[in-house]
Amino acid sequence: MSGFPKKVERLIEEIQKLPGIGPKSAERIALHIVSMEKSRVDRLVSAINEAKENLHLCPICFNLTDKEICDICADSERDHSIVCVVEEVRDLYAIEKSGEYKGVYHVLHGRIDPMNHVSVEDLRIKELVERVAKGNVKEVILAMNPNFNGDITSLYITKLLKPYGIKITRIATGLPKGTEIDFVDSVTLTMALKDRKEIT
Ligand SMILES: [Zn+2]
Repeated sequence: MSGFPKKVERLIEEIQKLPGIGPKSAERIALHIVSMEKSRVDRLVSAINEAKENLHLCPICFNLTDKEICDICADSERDHSIVCVVEEVRDLYAIEKSGEYKGVYHVLHGRIDPMNHVSVEDLRIKELVERVAKGNVKEVILAMNPNFNGDITSLYITKLLKPYGIKITRIATGLPKGTEIDFVDSVTLTMALKDRKEIT
């Protein structure tokens, strides 16, 4: 049995690096792309490039934005003294979708993960501490995923923030162990936020 041409193999390889795409789907997508009209391929590529070029991280919360400061940080109606810390931008959107949360966010862009060599320096933890040190934050809500890496990340952040004497809470009570926050339905997520427990 002969394999795909080298260039198709390369495309499959790249597609497979995307989240949630296994080898079979990657093959199907790659073969679909190469059989598409050239103009459709161009549109896809330029949509990707434009999205990438016009987006950057908000300098305050590290959410993705196409403005100088993201809409959430720029919103004076929100409570800027409550900061919900999430692992990824998609977790922020999951919480936003629940519609109940009126504070602001801080996106870490990952979690401490020794197995995959992700350490504190790779995350926006230093920036979170700097934010709290400025003195305008009353409460930090830790919304890390309820799993080992989420737990150690929460623990580490708690230790760093303790000296500032602010309220530190963690959601995820009631969230089943091992569930990812961005897969939890809005009602459960709202409950988890409301039921947040203070870490003492
Ligand atoms: Zn922001």
